[in-house]
Amino acid sequence: MKMILLGPPGAGKGTQAEAICKKYGIPQISTGDMLRSEINAESQLGISAKKLMDAGKLVDDDLIIKLVLSRISKPDCHKGYLFDGFPRTIPQAEALKIAKVPLNAVVEINVMDAEIVTRISGRRVHPGSGRVYHINNKPPKKKGIDDFTGEPLIQREDDNEKTIKKRLDVYHNQTKPLISFYKSWHRSDNQAPKLITISGTGSIEDIKTEILDSLDSLV
Ligand code: AMP
Repeated sequence: MKMILLGPPGAGKGTQAEAICKKYGIPQISTGDMLRSEINAESQLGISAKKLMDAGKLVDDDLIIKLVLSRISKPDCHKGYLFDGFPRTIPQAEALKIAKVPLNAVVEINVMDAEIVTRISGRRVHPGSGRVYHINNKPPKKKGIDDFTGEPLIQREDDNEKTIKKRLDVYHNQTKPLISFYKSWHRSDNQAPKLITISGTGSIEDIKTEILDSLDSLV
């Protein structure tokens, strides 16, 4: 399985990615997580990315493309991979196409803007693994604590109302056009990845079943 998970921030990409990756035994490649580990390591890249991320803006395409191409050359990607939060712009999608990075599917999770802000304010993450929880919809077993490591959960700095509105604007202007990109590619080339659109409103379990069933029919 070689796929892209698309959707606005707060659509549940991280949560669904965990289930898909577990089922197919593939790594989750989250560019957001990769950037956050650069920030934690206080690397030059992390320092410059942090300013943009805190403002809800996107990081430079060339830099992201380099990070991803180097990541998928690692041995754990031979069986497949799931891109979470990448590509986010047409130039990033073009770069994958030009590099002939194989892809079976693009799964779009759709959620209305109004619901996103409520969802994101309850989101908590385990910084070490990128595991995502929600205080009401997917609470950890013990409040504020990661189920697997016992380490504390945090609220991301960009998960505040002002930044989330900016991130939604960026999503509509720069990422949503990828839907037409993949639709028209598939119309003209039957080797192109198949676009699957799923409603991200409903129970986590129902959404997971719908995604896994659609993917099963592809492989
Ligand atoms: P995420 O964890 O996917 O919500 O990403 C958090 C932030 O990291 C985004 O708001 C961007 O600032 C940056 N980022 C993550 N992935 C990308 C990408 N593919 N292209 C550009 N910026 C990205």
